[in-house]
Amino acid sequence: MKISSKPFGKLPDGRQVQLYTLTNDNHFSFEVINYGGIITSIMAPDKNGKAEDVIIGFDDLSGFLHDTSYINALIGRVGNRIGNSAFTLNGNLYKLAANEGNNHLHGGINAFHRVLWDSEPVETADETGIKLTYFSRHMEEGYPGNLVIEVKMLITNQNEIKILYKATTDESTHINLTHHGYFNLNGGKSNVLDHELKLYATHYTEVDSALIASGSILPVKGTDFDFTEPLKIGARIGRTGGYDLNYVIDKKPDEMAMAAEMFEPDSGRLMKVYTDQPGIQLYTATHFNGSVTGKKEKKHIQYYAFCFETQHFPNSPNIPHFPSTVLNPGDVYRQATTYKFEVR
Ligand code: BGC
Repeated sequence: MKISSKPFGKLPDGRQVQLYTLTNDNHFSFEVINYGGIITSIMAPDKNGKAEDVIIGFDDLSGFLHDTSYINALIGRVGNRIGNSAFTLNGNLYKLAANEGNNHLHGGINAFHRVLWDSEPVETADETGIKLTYFSRHMEEGYPGNLVIEVKMLITNQNEIKILYKATTDESTHINLTHHGYFNLNGGKSNVLDHELKLYATHYTEVDSALIASGSILPVKGTDFDFTEPLKIGARIGRTGGYDLNYVIDKKPDEMAMAAEMFEPDSGRLMKVYTDQPGIQLYTATHFNGSVTGKKEKKHIQYYAFCFETQHFPNSPNIPHFPSTVLNPGDVYRQATTYKFEVR
């Protein structure tokens, strides 16, 4: 396996962004930049061994700088939505940046997806990749506590991308990190409605019309959200108006388990997602409307990609009975997610 790096343009303030290319011994590779931890390409073989790029995005840095959809970036401090952009912790009320109406989405405005992370190559016997580190100061985007975050993004010879997150704080805070890849397993030739999805989830977290979790956990059985048996994403999408929902993964707390499988019949590509997190957000790029042009002059049309955001449940800071997102001084936050690319 090998790693190489080269410049990927400059930020408006002149700081240099670096692109890392990670390649394994089986012609599988991915590229990531230290701005936002954005994955810029994933070259995955199809059933005939032909590698194609299975993540959408932009050809250059300026595309990512102008993006408003968190495309392929690291998300934090708290991914997904926090109702009314506020929470109370240890008796103190914290007001967060409101960046979606009255609510807080994906950590705020200049959150982790908009940060230039420190980066360095890392290597173990079975993994090669980069380590990104960032210091998020007390009250950044409204969150208490100085937070030290470390994210490793690794490649293996099993055609896996592993993302390992770790953080510590000097004051109690909330944390819920994720990665917001927009995948298209047929190399971006068409939308993803013919991709076949299986979710290892018999329940989902209910949301209101502003997509704020109510705290109820409901069964998928008998609803259009049921993907417990493999089904084309498009099969019932007309009735749902697209998917933007957090599923409760059927597993024990902290257990690393299979959360989702996505199969693309034309190419034979199969992507499996494993995580130790309790939830996974399925998002089908519903708000894409063709007004943005991405890689290779392809327009980002509706349903052009799907996202699997492994995470704690949305709005957890305001819902005491959800698994806790509190991080206290002296404790270590960890999350691990693996995306594995196979063919069938
Ligand atoms: C959210 C969507 C949102 C998208 C891009 C997803 O995680 O659930 O509602 O449009 O991110 O911001």
